[in-house]
Amino acid sequence: MRNKTLNMDTKIAEYQPVIGLEVHVQLKTNSKMFCSCPTVFGAIPNTNICPVCTGQPGVLPVANRKAVELSIKTALALGCTINNLSIFARKNYFYPDLPKNYQISQYESPFGMDGVLEIDIHGKAKKIRIKRVHLEEDTGKLLHSIGSTELDYSLIDFNRSGLPLLEIVTEPDITSPEEAWSYLTGLRNLLRYIDVSDCDMEKGSFRCDANISVRDSAMADTGKLGIKTEIKNLNSFKAVKDALGYEINRQVKQLKAGKEVVQETLLWNDRQGRTESMRTKESAHDYRYFPEPDLPPFEFSGNLLEKLKGELPELPHQRKKRFISEYLLTDYDADVLTSAKGLADYFESGVNAAKDSVPPDASLKFAKPFANWVNTELTGRLNARGQTIEGCSVSAGYLARLVVMVCEEKISNNIAKQVLDDMFETGRKPEEIIREKGLTQISDEKEISGLIDKVIEENPIPVEEYRGGKKQALGALVGAVMKKSGGRANPQMVNRILRTKLGG
Ligand code: ADP
Ligand code: MG
Ligand code: ZN
Repeated sequence: MRNKTLNMDTKIAEYQPVIGLEVHVQLKTNSKMFCSCPTVFGAIPNTNICPVCTGQPGVLPVANRKAVELSIKTALALGCTINNLSIFARKNYFYPDLPKNYQISQYESPFGMDGVLEIDIHGKAKKIRIKRVHLEEDTGKLLHSIGSTELDYSLIDFNRSGLPLLEIVTEPDITSPEEAWSYLTGLRNLLRYIDVSDCDMEKGSFRCDANISVRDSAMADTGKLGIKTEIKNLNSFKAVKDALGYEINRQVKQLKAGKEVVQETLLWNDRQGRTESMRTKESAHDYRYFPEPDLPPFEFSGNLLEKLKGELPELPHQRKKRFISEYLLTDYDADVLTSAKGLADYFESGVNAAKDSVPPDASLKFAKPFANWVNTELTGRLNARGQTIEGCSVSAGYLARLVVMVCEEKISNNIAKQVLDDMFETGRKPEEIIREKGLTQISDEKEISGLIDKVIEENPIPVEEYRGGKKQALGALVGAVMKKSGGRANPQMVNRILRTKLGG
């Protein structure tokens, strides 16, 4: 047994996975990258096309200013160095989805380089370095099947061709499928936060290729990397994680058998849970990159960069730190709240609304329970209906007033949850619901005292037990009083008065 454990440890320690991710995101613009065709998703195939994006002879591309600005904003948010002089390049290859036979992309001088994204891995921060952020145009979309019917020919839709596509490439800093997941989540949250892409994997506006190699742990110190494969066709975060797990095992087996890993491009077959060889790996010189002669170089002035920086919102990791220091939230609550801008905005607008109705010293005490209500009760109800915070019928101000009432013990937690159910349906004010349903908490000594007297009379057995020293018997009596009051009695008061009446 002992030996077995040792063996397993050494087996894991022997090889170390090394992962680098290439993420492509479609930018949120109204028109395509080099022409004025619309970018709407789901249009009838080949209706959003023109001579430019279908590669007709004699046309000239004109760069979309918005796309360039969104790219720079992304590069800035990722802490990249911006190349003040940046150029487009032609990446030459032949494929049916590429009517020009070249893709306008960036090669030598991309917009952004040397950035970083900090991820959270089991509560610890880890920096993943960003190698480059560059802008290119998307290709057309090939259709090999319709629904579940495989075609014996392929269809091509050029609506996608020429959409602005931003590529974000990491250094090989990721060392496990879990870290890859965490990186993708963090990147997607950030891109949505700064509103440059909707990052919808199902619609293809967020796509990921994964590069993976394993190396002998003894190699780690030398900084040398193993031979990598690149996995394509990853349609969900789960697919990325599964494919990486599969590929790590496959490569380790290969090396253990004394064979080499072949450098190649693989396709992930999600249904069968394995990778399949697609083509042997091409390298940069195969593409014959050269500067795009039809587009002038970009020169970014300090003023423009300052302006774009100024347009960025407070970034999620900064906001998280501020939530912890300003509102004394837990790391977990701050993390959840700042995972989406809408949620963080909702929280802060609720806290601000409450400032008007509670004294300043109490408003700080209010932030914590309010965060808790947003993260559990509200989010739970939204998730159950598949709604987002943006479409939430409960305004932040109203939820804040409800939570203030709980903090001031005007209503109990349980009653507040019932009120929230109603608010969720109707969007009404909490006070109105509480008044209408007669739900205010009973904090009147006399009224509670009367209820307690009745309960003592009706429950001689637990009363005897309690007086005889069995202190747990109090719970049953408190429960009986709460039930009699329809859940409205102030529980602290019930406890206190009951004890006094029963003699300590
Ligand atoms: P390519 O020219 O094949 O596209 P790049 O150097 O541009 O290779 O890197 C592409 C991605 O692969 C990057 O995310 C990079 O970090 C990652 N990568 C490079 N070499 C390795 C390796 N040996 N193992 C794992 N990932 C790697
Ligand atoms: Mg590549
Ligand atoms: Zn067009």
